[in-house]
Amino acid sequence: MHAPFTRLVRDLGDIVPFVAPEAHERRLGRTFKLRLGANESAFGVSPIAQHAMVEAMEHVDWYGDPESFELRTQLACVHGVSVQNLVVGSGIDDLLCLIARTYIDSCQSVVMSLGGYPTFRYFVRGCGGTIHDVAYLRDSNDLDGLAKMAARTGARIVYLANPDNPTGTWQTAGDLQEFARRLPESCLLVLDEAYAEFAPAEAIPPIDGANPNILRLRTFSKAYGMAGTRIGYAIAARETIVAFDRIRVHFGVNRIAQAGALGSLRDPQFALSVARAVAEGRRDYEMLARELGLSTVPSATNFVAIDMGSFDRARATVDALFAHGVFVRMANASPVNRCIRVTVDRPARRATFAAILREVVASEATLQTGWPTSKTSAVFPSSFTGMIKG
Ligand SMILES: *Cc1c(COP(=O)(O)O)cnc(C)c1O
Repeated sequence: MHAPFTRLVRDLGDIVPFVAPEAHERRLGRTFKLRLGANESAFGVSPIAQHAMVEAMEHVDWYGDPESFELRTQLACVHGVSVQNLVVGSGIDDLLCLIARTYIDSCQSVVMSLGGYPTFRYFVRGCGGTIHDVAYLRDSNDLDGLAKMAARTGARIVYLANPDNPTGTWQTAGDLQEFARRLPESCLLVLDEAYAEFAPAEAIPPIDGANPNILRLRTFSKAYGMAGTRIGYAIAARETIVAFDRIRVHFGVNRIAQAGALGSLRDPQFALSVARAVAEGRRDYEMLARELGLSTVPSATNFVAIDMGSFDRARATVDALFAHGVFVRMANASPVNRCIRVTVDRPARRATFAAILREVVASEATLQTGWPTSKTSAVFPSSFTGMIKG
């Protein structure tokens, strides 16, 4: 007899929150020439971070500090909070899992946007939680709809990415603060700020380490270019951090990542220069789209969502780009699944992408005039090429 799994695991379908580019490459039997689908940075890491990581290799035989104390001390300085308001994890994704395990009992409600970043949804399901979706409104998270849904369902958590993935849109600090005040007293707002470094100042509310019902998430994966090292952190109330310490994976953050993160913090100019280069790249993509008669969604991130007008056309475009060796992704639910999401790359590779997209759009035009504007809202089968990650 096969040793039995938990009831929860038995009842879960086989779900994949994303299909990695490597999996597509194995399936297609070749490598992508452009990797524009996971919002990885094309702008490297700070030389100071790189040096720190090479140095840390010397003691790779040692475990990393399970408290990431030096890093938390620096982060406390940067954000004007206490070390006790910080927990470090192996990326935001790891912390999303920790949040779900800490706050969600079986059948409790979590509210989020339909078609948004899917990883928290994945972990909530894995804890037996119940997800209540709210559709995007004009390509933004619908704050009013999310607040009403939270009240109606007695939500334990509302998850919100700001700036948002996969749209790139952002809310102002004032609107977010008003939103947080409207949530039920017993509801935690998880504010995923993976793209904070790319956002205008108006999109980032002041950090208040004393508020027990707002948790902020940051990562070294995007502007700092360290996605492969897996390191991020949460800023939360002290009691929350104490609760995390009861169940988190204490040795999950490796010492090379800790050294790289510390090095990154010693070079604040680096992330600023990346953000400037990325802003230029977004303008290139916007101009390219306009040239092709397409529009874009305003973005405060390192990617641009190009509006293809319909789900069918977006999906066909993703497939055609794959055939040309270009990895991109798209959202997995209506109405944002009419867009393809393209990460900002360096100028030369942006030009390569532009040439390929021109060709793809031109051949689409000869295939079909007038794409159907289907409102497909079903989430794709997990095998579909475009599931969002990163
Ligand atoms: C990229 C991304 C993450 C993942 O961050 P890691 O620190 O690499 O786990 C989380 N949330 C959003 C919205 C992202 O776009």
